[in-house]
Amino acid sequence: MENSSLKKFAIFGNPVEHSLSPNMQQAGFRFIDFDATYQKHKLEDGKKIKKAFLEEKYLGANITVPHKEIAYNLADEVRGIAKKIGAVNTYINENGKIIAYNTDAIGFMKAIQDFGKIENALIIGAGGTAKAIAIALLENGVNVTVLNRSEDKLTFFKDLGCKVASWKNFVLDAYDLVINSTSAGLKDDNYPFDKSRLENIFMNANFAFDCIYGKLTPFLALAKKEGLKIKDGEDMLLYQGVEAFELFTNTTSSPELVQAMRKGLRGE
Ligand code: NDP
Repeated sequence: MENSSLKKFAIFGNPVEHSLSPNMQQAGFRFIDFDATYQKHKLEDGKKIKKAFLEEKYLGANITVPHKEIAYNLADEVRGIAKKIGAVNTYINENGKIIAYNTDAIGFMKAIQDFGKIENALIIGAGGTAKAIAIALLENGVNVTVLNRSEDKLTFFKDLGCKVASWKNFVLDAYDLVINSTSAGLKDDNYPFDKSRLENIFMNANFAFDCIYGKLTPFLALAKKEGLKIKDGEDMLLYQGVEAFELFTNTTSSPELVQAMRKGLRGE
């Protein structure tokens, strides 16, 4: 028989098998003695996310590719920076109502904290992740330029107040931070932009961040060779998870909890 008092959480995505969120969140639950389950919920049709969330009686959920936009549209209420981004990665059940948040933006800002003050940033890529990052940086007073392979996705960023360029019309400038938010390098050895032009960008930059985690991508390897301080996407994944965890458990995180969740993420 189902235990109705059991606190249930999940991650919705398709595919979802590869997700490290269950390991990370369960490590957090164990650390604070929070009696709950967190499962992978493969969802093919994003339009069914609200029904699935309520039927399964989840108290909270994370949402990953490709359902972040539809999850935004179907939420009863969207809070915080997610309203500007138009995509959410966290659902909370508040008295039967679905409250939605985007914790990717704050996860990214926490991940780049060690770089110190950033005034100018270049984001390569213009997908969902780039939107969250651009809005987070703009809200923190950073000048943002977005460079993308194709032109069509750039309007959103232009309307936000970013400088925008496609591969065809990019003009070299100096940036404190260069970010790869494309999937180039994820399952291949591609650079997100022409290698020699990327080298020129790195010659005028200090820091490089790749949203991809768990590997040294060609983008990061090149930045390292050019002497930049580099970072992969592990901390972004970790801190978006910590923010979601705080919402799930209604607790405030400690450095020890963050450490426990990092170990969970790494399978240690
Ligand atoms: P989207 O599919 O929404 O966007 C992909 C973007 O990458 C598009 O702008 C596309 O350009 C560009 N792109 C894809 N392939 C190439 C290529 N070979 N060369 C140049 N540009 C390319 O993806 P997301 O924004 O959802 O995710 C982007 C990356 O961020 C993924 O690698 C994902 O794993 C990672 N990620 C990491 C997170 C973390 O917590 N660390 C969280 C979320 C995502 P075009 O418009 O021309 O097609």
